[in-house]
Amino acid sequence: MLTDSTPAKILIVEDESIVALDLQNSLLRLNYEVPQILESGEAAILAAQSSHPDLILMDIRLKGDMDGIEAAEVIRKTLDIPIIFLTAFADQATLERAKKIDPIGYLLKPFDEQELYVTIEIALHKHHSEQEVKEQTNWLKTVLQSIGDAVITTDLSGSITFMNRVAEGLTEWAQSEAIGHDISDVLTIANQITQKTISNPIHQALKDGGRYGLPENTILVTKNDVEIPIDDSAVPILDAQNNIKGGVIVFRDITERVRTDAQLYQRAFVDDLTQLPNRAAFIQLLNQAFKRIQQHPNDAFTLFFIDLDQFKRVNDCLGHGVGDRLLMAAAQRLQHCLRPTDTVARLGGDEFSILCERSTNFSVVCRIAERIIAAFQQPFMLDGKDLICSTSIGIVQSHQRYQTADEMLRDADIAMYRAKAKGRGCYTVFDTQMYHQVSQLLQLETDLRQAIANHDLTVYYQPILELKTQKIKGFEALVRWNHPEQGQIGPTVFIPIAAETNLIVPLDWWVLAEACRQLRQWQTQWPAYEHLTISVNVSSKQFAQSSIVEYVQQTLDETGLPARCLKLELTEHALIKNPEKAIALLCNLRALGVELCIDDFGTGYSSLSYLHQYPLDVLKIDRSFIHSLDEEHSKIEIVQAIIMLAHILGMEVIAEGIETAHQLGAMKALNCEYGQGYLFYHPLSAPATE
Ligand code: C2E
Ligand code: MG
Ligand code: MG
Repeated sequence: MLTDSTPAKILIVEDESIVALDLQNSLLRLNYEVPQILESGEAAILAAQSSHPDLILMDIRLKGDMDGIEAAEVIRKTLDIPIIFLTAFADQATLERAKKIDPIGYLLKPFDEQELYVTIEIALHKHHSEQEVKEQTNWLKTVLQSIGDAVITTDLSGSITFMNRVAEGLTEWAQSEAIGHDISDVLTIANQITQKTISNPIHQALKDGGRYGLPENTILVTKNDVEIPIDDSAVPILDAQNNIKGGVIVFRDITERVRTDAQLYQRAFVDDLTQLPNRAAFIQLLNQAFKRIQQHPNDAFTLFFIDLDQFKRVNDCLGHGVGDRLLMAAAQRLQHCLRPTDTVARLGGDEFSILCERSTNFSVVCRIAERIIAAFQQPFMLDGKDLICSTSIGIVQSHQRYQTADEMLRDADIAMYRAKAKGRGCYTVFDTQMYHQVSQLLQLETDLRQAIANHDLTVYYQPILELKTQKIKGFEALVRWNHPEQGQIGPTVFIPIAAETNLIVPLDWWVLAEACRQLRQWQTQWPAYEHLTISVNVSSKQFAQSSIVEYVQQTLDETGLPARCLKLELTEHALIKNPEKAIALLCNLRALGVELCIDDFGTGYSSLSYLHQYPLDVLKIDRSFIHSLDEEHSKIEIVQAIIMLAHILGMEVIAEGIETAHQLGAMKALNCEYGQGYLFYHPLSAPATE
C-alpha cells in the first residue's frame, strides 16, 4: 500500500501463469492494484513505460530472449521504478548480475503472503525515502548554484568534493578538474600587504570543528595569478552522530566594498588639497601616541604646530589659486624635512602639525624645526614668480600633565603664536609660563565681554587747551574699566584684546554714545560752555563698519549734541587699510558736520605724502615726539615739518602728552594751536571734570 487512499500499482512479470495468478490473488488480497501480468522482458519494458507502476515484481527467468535482469536493466536506465526480483534458484553469476542493477529487494520462491507483504512495503518505503533524498540533493544543488557567494566543500582530508559556479569563476578552476585537489591548491589565499600565503581556514575547521573566518586584507590568488580581495568563513560538515565528515567554505569577492571603504576613508581622513592626513586623522594618531606613552612612559613624542607667515596676504593679493598651490608646495616641503617615523598633517587653513614619535632626544627635535625654518626661507616658484613664505613653529613635548590631544595642540598653538610675536620665521618651545599668560589673557577677554554687557566701563575726560590762551576748548573721551578684582584698568591693556576679538565694536559705540550724552548734559547745564567739543577715538574695526555714518548720525540725534561739537579720532592704520573706501567714508562723516582728526600721527606709516588725500580737520602729533623735544634737537625739525604741512593742508594741530613747561614753550613757538597733557590735566572722571 502506498498511502491509505491510493493503492500501490504493482506490475507482475512472471512467465509461469499459475505462479503469476497466485501472486496476483495475494496482491489483491493485500489491497494492491495489479494492472497487468507480463510474461516476457520485452513486454514488461513496454508496460512499465506506459503504465508507470509503483513497483515491479520481476521473475529472473522469463520466456523470450531477455531475462528479468536484462529487462530490469533497461527499465532502470530510463525509469525510476523499484524492482524486486523473484527467483527460485540462482547461481552465483546470476546473482552478481542482478546485484549490479541495484534491485530494491529479492523474494525467494516459494514465499508466503506475509513475507511478500513485508518485502513490498519495505521496498516501497525505501524507494520513497530515496526519492526524497534525491529531491533534497537536487534542491541543495540548485540553491548552491544560484547563490551569489562562492561555495567549495571538501572531505575530511581537505580534498575538494564540490564547487559551485561562482567558486569556479573566482578561482578560475573548473569543478571537474578541482575535485580531488587539496583546497589550498585551488583556493590559494594570501595577505595583500605582506603577500604571505595564509593557511586555509577549512583545515582548522576540520581539525577542531570550529567556525573560522579570514583575517583582514585577505586576497585570493586565482589560477592565473589574479588577486581578488575576499572575505569568507569555513565550517565543518557533521554527520548524524556529529562526527566531522568534511568542510564547507563560503567566500565572496569584496573588491567593491574595499573600494568604497577606501573612498570613505579618503573622505574622512585625508585633506583634499594636500593629500596629507587631516585634523581628524591627526587627532587619532595623537591619541594613539597618548596610549602608547601610558604603556611606555619613556617613549616621549613631540608635537609641532606650524603656521605659514602672512599666508592670508598671499590669498588676498594673489588669489586663492596661488594660495592653494602654495599650501600644496608647503606640504611637500614639510614632508621632505621629516624622518620616516614623523607624520605631518594639515589641520586646516595654513596650519600644519607634525607628530615626532620617539623623540626623547630634544636636540633632534630642534634640528627638525631648524630644517623646516631653513627650508621655508627658500622661495617657492609659483606662476613663474618667486614667493617667500616663512613659517612660525610652536613645539610642545609630551608630558604627564597632558591628558588629551586637544590640550597638547592648544599649547603648541600658544607656542606658535609666541614664535610669531618674536618676529615670525622662527620656532618656540612651549613652557608653562606661556600658558599662564595666555589663560590670564583669555580670562581678561571673558571679563571684558561681561564688563561691556554690564556697563562696568566709564569714560574719563582729558581737557584739550588752546595753547595761546590756555583755555579749555574741549575734551578727549578715554575709556576706563572698573574691574571688580583688579581695580581700574587702562585702555592700553584691554583695547588690544578687545580689538583682537571684535569686542571693540560694541565698546566703541558705547563710549561714543556716553561721551556725546555727557557733553550735551554739560552744555545744557552750563550754557556758557556750548562751544566745548568732545573727541572720541574710533578703532580700525569700527571704522570698517559700513554703518558707521548712520550710527554717528543716530547718536547725535539721540543725544542732541550738535555735530560740530563731535570730533572723531582715527589712526593712520584705519585710513591706510583701504584708502578709497576710507576717503569716501570720511567725506560722508564730514558731511554730517563732525570734525575728523588723525590721531597718534608719526607712529604709524607716517607718510606725509598721503595726508593730503584725506579730508581731515585736525592732526594730533603723537606724544613720543613731544617727549623727545626735551632731549633730541633733531626731532624739533620733524615736528616743525609736520605742523607746517598740516597748516598748508588746512588742518589744526593738537600736541598730545605735554608734560613740561619746556614742551609747552616749544610747541607754542612752533605755532601749534592746541595741546593736552599732564601739565594741564590728567584724564578725569565726569564729576571731577565738572
Ligand atoms: P590716545 O587716543 O592717543 O589717547 C591719549 C593717551 O595719552 C591717553 O592714554 C592719555 O591718558 C594719554 N596722555 C594724555 N596726556 C599725557 C601725558 O602728558 N603724558 C603721558 N604719558 N600720557 C598722556 P589712555 O587713556 O591710556 O589711552 C590710551 C589709548 O587707548 C588712547 O590713545 C587710544 O588710542 C586708546 N583709547 C582710549 N579710549 C578709547 C576708546 O574709547 N576707544 C578706542 N578705540 N580707543 C581708546
Ligand atoms: Mg585719541
Ligand atoms: Mg593719541
